[in-house]
Amino acid sequence: MKVAFSTLGCRVNQYESEAMAEKFIREGYEVVEFDSFADVYVINTCTVTNMGDKKSRQIIGRARRENEEAVIAVVGCYSQIAPTEVGNIEGVDVVLGTRNKGEIVYWVNKAIDEGKQQIQVSPVLKNNVFEDLNIEEYQDKTRAFLKIQDGCNRFCSYCLIPYARGAVCSKDPEKIKEEVKKLSEHGFKEIILSGIHTASYGVDLEQKVTLVDILEVIEAIDGIERVRIGSIDPTFFTEEVVDRISKLKKLCHHFHLSLQSGCDETLKRMNRKYTAKDYKYIVDVLRKHFQDVSITTDVIVGFPGETEEEFEATYNFLKDIKLTKTHIFKFSPRKGTRAASMEKQVDGNIKEERSKLLIRLNEENEKQFIDALNGSTQKVLFEQAVSNMEGCYEGYTENYVRVVAKFDCDSVIGKIMPTKITESSTDYAVGEII
Ligand code: SF4
Repeated sequence: MKVAFSTLGCRVNQYESEAMAEKFIREGYEVVEFDSFADVYVINTCTVTNMGDKKSRQIIGRARRENEEAVIAVVGCYSQIAPTEVGNIEGVDVVLGTRNKGEIVYWVNKAIDEGKQQIQVSPVLKNNVFEDLNIEEYQDKTRAFLKIQDGCNRFCSYCLIPYARGAVCSKDPEKIKEEVKKLSEHGFKEIILSGIHTASYGVDLEQKVTLVDILEVIEAIDGIERVRIGSIDPTFFTEEVVDRISKLKKLCHHFHLSLQSGCDETLKRMNRKYTAKDYKYIVDVLRKHFQDVSITTDVIVGFPGETEEEFEATYNFLKDIKLTKTHIFKFSPRKGTRAASMEKQVDGNIKEERSKLLIRLNEENEKQFIDALNGSTQKVLFEQAVSNMEGCYEGYTENYVRVVAKFDCDSVIGKIMPTKITESSTDYAVGEII
């Protein structure tokens, strides 16, 4: 039997798809590419915007066209929030919520045996987020995502995640330690700590433990050479936290701090818990402690009520602080959120114009950051061959710049090599391995 996965959304979903794939492999299934013939198609959905729902529907249609007889299982945030809607999409055989992904093989087999639709969506209050969905066997040998936390207590006004994934739930620190040791034994060099709201790690645990404690534990484990934190809430960083983490040798100097808006009024409507000034302070502290730091971010344009002045505040803020990279999202109302029913929704054309302005600004900032690396020597962890450039391999610097370099064989994959940067392009650098 063959199973294929399509994963939308965040890194936590990527981690969970790998964990589900492993469960299928243990039951004798073979995992194949999504665009090929399979007996089971699993679509791991996202519901951050309505686009996620739309995309999920398109993918379901694609799977159905590949094999009319296949079992189609839709899992994840979209199923959790709207199980009936998902169940009513033509051709869907299994619908599982975010807390039921661990039981996927059981429900797929049940659908095959009984020939009828199976819907299982447990309330997100159920507390065993980590018991039934962990990766035991890692396939890749370069970087591993390690999910340490799920859920979110923040309730930003545009986001459904606290409803789709529930309150913060942190993985036991001992379990994390065990998993990191195992990853190290498997030959991984880099770990990316992932979660829905990683900054909240530990708030639900009895013992007083924070993300900084976890980073310090990993620092002491041999074999792992790099640790990255996935996207993180800016409020996590205080002078004291930055002082502690600046002593860690394995921590990569790249932080993805979601900004969303550089205007305080907009931030307030978004229910974000910081001001533009707070954000700038954090950026300054990080830059003071890590001279080569790269800070990337997400920004939403066209949030309800965003006036020309408010957008300008965001634009000028970003122009002033010059982050390495900004991911720009046009606001898309998500049914069921406060933002969706707010007055003064912004016209689509205005959102488009604002987005274009920020994209241009981002290109300039990104290029400047990469240009500045020219002539320097960077430690690059090579991950794979570049498909359209013969003899070239690509990997990332500690501060997450993509580097392409020539090498005579693929033994470079999975290794950290000192690489001299000789040229820069808009979104990557060219280097020579020394
Ligand atoms: S912090 Fe806000 S945007 Fe992020 S998951 Fe929580 S509610 Fe959603």
